[in-house]
Formats: sequence, C-alpha cells, structure tokens
Amino acid sequence: MGIKIYPRRSGIIPIQNVRQLSVIAMSVEQALLQRSDNKCELCAATENLAPLAVEPSDGSLDQSILVCETCRGQIADQAIMDVNHWRCLNDSMWSQEAPVQVMAYRQLFALISKGETWAQDSLDMLYLDPAVEKWAKMGLPDEDAEPTYDVNKAVLQAGDSVTLVKDLVVKGANFTAKQGTLVKNISLTSNPKHIEGKVNGSHIVIISEYCKKA
Ligand SMILES: [Zn+2]
Repeated sequence: MGIKIYPRRSGIIPIQNVRQLSVIAMSVEQALLQRSDNKCELCAATENLAPLAVEPSDGSLDQSILVCETCRGQIADQAIMDVNHWRCLNDSMWSQEAPVQVMAYRQLFALISKGETWAQDSLDMLYLDPAVEKWAKMGLPDEDAEPTYDVNKAVLQAGDSVTLVKDLVVKGANFTAKQGTLVKNISLTSNPKHIEGKVNGSHIVIISEYCKKA
C-alpha cells in the first residue's frame, strides 16, 4: 500500500519542510475530496472540510485524511472530546484507507481512556495490517508515562470511583466540592497529577492526591 513509517514521533514538522508541505497541500486536498466523496472521513459531515496530516506524515495523500471542523478540534484537544460524536468511528473504522484506520484507532484508544467501554469493543474488532498498526501506535500516549496516584499512592484508572479527602473550591463554577463527595467514573488526563470527573453536574479537573479510591 506504499505506507512509509517514519521514526519521528513528535508530530512537529521541521520548519524547513513547512513550505514544501503547503505547496503539495492543494493537490492533496483535491485528491482527498475525491477519495472521500466530499465528506469528513471520520463522521461523514459535509461542511468545513480540510486535510489533516496523520502524524508522522509527509503530507501526502496516503498519510492524510479529510476531516470536518468538529473532528479536527476534538482530535487536537482530547479534553473537549464529545464522546457521543465519536460513535461515528463504528462506521469509519472500517474504511479501506490506512490513514483513516490509523486515526480511528487512536480516537478509539482515547475514548477507552475516558472510560467508554463500547470503544474497547470496537477496537477489539478492528484488525489492522501490521505496518498500519505500528503507525497507529506511534500516536498513542507514552506507555512509560507516570501513573496517576490517589492520596494513598494507589494507582487510579479511568472508570474508577473516588471520594474527595478535602473540601475543594471549584474555580469558575462557584461551589465547593465537599470532603467525602463520591466522584464516579473518573477519566485520566495527559497530566498524571490530574483526573477529571463530574461533581454537582459540572465536569471538573481534580488533583489526584486529593482523592481516595472508593
Ligand atoms: Zn468529522
């Protein structure tokens, strides 16, 4: 399928290559519009479409996808992920296009870390060509990343329930989350010292050391 795997992991494009990328981008965009039949290759939306390089990528058609604004924004910032939007992956993960498969794989993985069990079921069904799987895994969070600990140094995982060990003033939401409050179905964040959970109907970030695994 002509997929090239590059060792670079960071997703940062060296400055000297930027101009070159934008030069080829026009033709890539045309080819992507054709390949996708003018639809977001993840959610099938038809508006505000633009190419997205699936890093590590040389910006070519084989390493790019066409996405809508919603998908693009939530790929860039997992904290604002609307988990229901990503049910679209149950269709798009069956795409014949390797870069679409790669992005679907990475997004399913992100959903699993948010405690979405359906995403695990979908990922279990997805078979990727070994080279494609290797590419997909390059975009995942570092497996050597520090674990998230509670107050007793117990490791916290997505989906766990915790209780607060002290009163916490929730900035911006104007309430205090009381000591002893149960927070169900937490999510992990990119920062090992922070978790996310719902308190008083608000989605808040909590310092993991102020929590005790329930
Ligand atoms: Zn989309």
